[in-house]
Amino acid sequence: MNTENLESGNVVLNAHNKEEHRPSHTCEHIVNQTMIRLFGCGRSVSAHIERKKSKLDYALERCPTEEEVRRLEEAVNEVIGRHLPVTTEFITQEEARDRFDMQRLPEGASQTVRIVHVGDYDECLCIGAHVENTAEIGTFRIISHDWDEERKVWRMRFKVSGK
Ligand SMILES: [Zn+2]
Repeated sequence: MNTENLESGNVVLNAHNKEEHRPSHTCEHIVNQTMIRLFGCGRSVSAHIERKKSKLDYALERCPTEEEVRRLEEAVNEVIGRHLPVTTEFITQEEARDRFDMQRLPEGASQTVRIVHVGDYDECLCIGAHVENTAEIGTFRIISHDWDEERKVWRMRFKVSGK
């Protein structure tokens, strides 16, 4: 299930796991932006977020090296350590169209969408639950990862120490 969903006012348009662990889900935003910056890829193609262990899949051209995986882990922890505020903003669909990939916007969605900002590091459309400051995420650790050569998909599993 993809966790990047859209909201219109208080009406939830896409299914979303409300029980999702906030520190892990907020960390997902940071990992997505860090993947974009380090690998020039898109945001995760699928996500499964839980307190104990979370999974993110990315479409990449090749499997990242161990050094790149370490660099990703360090970069995400560096962003968490900036203690960035996590804020939301409502904008019109028209404004959103210029700033975001709106392909997932459902047919007949009404005028307002919600943007979630992680400081000035990342912004995306999301209705999930987040921490208020990245300090609450704690330490980010990549537990394991593997590469699907046929699908060209890299799966990584992570955990955060935040409650
Ligand atoms: Zn979110």
